[in-house]
Amino acid sequence: MLAAMTRSPRLYLLCSLAVAAACTPTPDAQMQLRILETTDLHMHIVDYDYFQDQPSVSVGLARTATLLKVARAEVANSVLVDNGDLLQGNPLGDFMARQRGLREGDVHPVYKAMNLLDYAVGNIGNHEFNYGLEFLDASIKGANFPYISANVFHDDGDDDPDNDQPYFRQYIIVDRSLRAEDSSSHDIRIGFIGFVPPQIMNWDRTNLQGKVVAHDIVDMARELVPKMKAEGADIVVAIPHSGLGPTASQGMDENAAWLLSTVPDIDAIMFGHSHQVFPSATYAGINNVDIERGTINGVPATMPGSWGSHLGYVDLQLAVGANGTWRVVDGAGRTRPIVERIGDEVVPLVEPDAEILAAVREEHDAAIDYVRTAVGEITAPINSFFALVQDDPSIQIVTNAQKRYVERLIEGTEFDGLPVLSASAPFKSGGRSGSDYYTDIPAGEIALKHIADLYLYPNTLRVAKLTGAGVREWLEMSAGAFRQIDPAVSDEQELLDPAYPSYNFDVIDGVDYRIDLTVARRYDTAGKLANPDSHRIVGLSFAGQAISDEQEFLVATNNYRAYGGGAFPGMDGSNIVIVAPDSNRDVLASYIIEEGIVNPTADGNWSFAPIPGDVNVVFSSSPEAGRALTPDSPIQKTGSDSQGFGRYRIQF
Ligand code: MN
Ligand code: MG
Repeated sequence: MLAAMTRSPRLYLLCSLAVAAACTPTPDAQMQLRILETTDLHMHIVDYDYFQDQPSVSVGLARTATLLKVARAEVANSVLVDNGDLLQGNPLGDFMARQRGLREGDVHPVYKAMNLLDYAVGNIGNHEFNYGLEFLDASIKGANFPYISANVFHDDGDDDPDNDQPYFRQYIIVDRSLRAEDSSSHDIRIGFIGFVPPQIMNWDRTNLQGKVVAHDIVDMARELVPKMKAEGADIVVAIPHSGLGPTASQGMDENAAWLLSTVPDIDAIMFGHSHQVFPSATYAGINNVDIERGTINGVPATMPGSWGSHLGYVDLQLAVGANGTWRVVDGAGRTRPIVERIGDEVVPLVEPDAEILAAVREEHDAAIDYVRTAVGEITAPINSFFALVQDDPSIQIVTNAQKRYVERLIEGTEFDGLPVLSASAPFKSGGRSGSDYYTDIPAGEIALKHIADLYLYPNTLRVAKLTGAGVREWLEMSAGAFRQIDPAVSDEQELLDPAYPSYNFDVIDGVDYRIDLTVARRYDTAGKLANPDSHRIVGLSFAGQAISDEQEFLVATNNYRAYGGGAFPGMDGSNIVIVAPDSNRDVLASYIIEEGIVNPTADGNWSFAPIPGDVNVVFSSSPEAGRALTPDSPIQKTGSDSQGFGRYRIQF
C-alpha cells in the first residue's frame, strides 16, 4: 500500500518508454516470478499404466502440462525446472534403455515431450544412473535445455576430494527479462544449482564405481552458492533431488532439503526424490517448516509428488535493493494436483495435452507391445490359489528377487555378511475382491504386464534389521490369518479368518518354520498381543539351526510393512536400515529380465504343523484352483459356494 502511494508516475512513464535496454527500476519497484517444477516423472509421460496395460488419469506429464500452461498464463514471469528421476520407472523407460536403445541422433521420448514445454534447466536424479553413464549421456543430449548437478565428480582415483573435476555443469546462471508490476521490464540473473543424493554410489555401484564419486550436498551448496552470487546471480534456486529429512546433518545426507534451507542466499528450493507433496500435512510439526506458506526456514519450497501427479511452484516477490539490484522479499511454495481423490474415486482435474501425447505416440505404442511381449520364461505355473495355505510360487518369485537385490545392495557396506531374509504376501487372493481375484500365469513366456499381477502395489523396497525374536513375532502376527483348529472336533472347521487381509499374510523366506493351528493366535488382527502365552510358530530355524532370540537378520520388505502397515509387532519404521531407491515391482521386473529363465517353484520353507486326529478343515479359493492340484496334494476340491468360490479341504 505504502509502495503504491509513493510510486513516482514520472519514472513509471520513462520506464515504459524505454525501448532497448531494461530501465533503471524505481526504488520501490516490485516484480513477481513464478518458478515451476516437475519432478520424479519416472517416464510417466502418457496418462497410461503400462503394468495394468490401461489408461490412468492419475499419472503423466501430458496432464501435468495442462496444469503448467494454466499456471504460466496466470503470471507475467515464470521459469520451469525439472528435478530428475526421468529416465527410469516404467516399462517405457525399460523399453528405451534395454530394448531399443539410443543411436547417434536419436532423441529420447522423454525429451521429445519435455522439449515442447520450454524448460529452463534439468537436474539429475538418482535414477538417471540406473542404465549407466553412457545411456544417461546419450539421453540428455536430446534435451533442448541444460543439465546441472553440483555434487557428482569424475573419479580421479587419488582420494583427494579437493582436486575433483565435476562430471556435470554444477550450476547455471540464466539471464531473463522480467516484467515488473508497473509493466516495465528488467534483466535479472537467475542461478540454478542441482544436487543428487550421494547414495548413488551405493545404489548404482555397478554403474558408477571407478567412474564418478559423489560429494555432500550441503557442503557443495556452501561452496558454490557464494560463487554464483559473485558471478552476478540476483536470485539462487536450488534444485535438490533430495527430500525433506533431518534437521541436523549426519554428513552425506540423502534428504537434505531442510539443511539446504539454512545455506545463505538460497531463495527457493524445488525439491523431490521422496515422491511426496510439499507443502502438505505430511510435513506438519517439523521445526521451522511452515506448511501454510510452503516454506522451510523461511525459504519458499515445493515438492510436486511423483509421476506427474502434481505441478509444483514457488511464487517469489522481488523488490529493488538499495544498490539497484533485485532481491527476494517474500515467497510461497505451492502444488496443484492432476486428480482429486474422493474416497475411492479418482476424479481427473485436467485433460491431457494433445501435443505431448502426439510427441511420444510411436514409443508409447512400442512400449505397450513390449509389456505384452515375453521378457523371460517361467518353468512352472505361478498362481496364488493356495498362497494362504501352503508355500507358494507367487510369493517365492518376489522374495527371491528381493533377496538377491538386497544381497547386492549391501555388498561392501556395514551390513555385508548379515543373513538376508525376504518377506512378501499374497496380494491377489480372492477374499472380498471375489472368486476370480487370483494371480494365474501359466508356465512359459512371461511378459512385463504380468509383473503387476505378481506385485500389485507400487511399494518401494525397505530393509529392516531384526533379531531372531523379532522375526518370530513378525511370523506370529502373520499366523493370525488362521482360525484356531480344534483337533478334537470332526465337524467342518473353517481355516481362514475373513477379517485378516491376505496382504498381511507375510511369508518370510530364508528361514524355515511350521504354523501350529491348534493354539490360539498370539496377536489379534489389530496387532495387539491377545494371547501372550500362545505360540503358533514352531521349529523356526535358519540354515538348519534353531534361531536364537539375539541372532541378527536383515529382512527385505516394503515401505507399507516397514512403516507399520498391518500393525506388525516391532514394525514402526525404527528398525529400517535401508531405504532402497527401487520399487518392489522394479526389483521383480529386473530379476526376471536378468534371469531370463526363472524357476518360481516354492522352496517349502513353511507349512502347517501336523494335526493329530481326524479334522475336517476347509477353505475357499478360486473355482479354477482344482487344476493346480496334483494327485499327492494334501488339498482336495469338495465343491463350490454361492459366491462362486471353490471349496477345498486340506489334510495335515
Ligand atoms: Mn524418484
Ligand atoms: Mg518359500
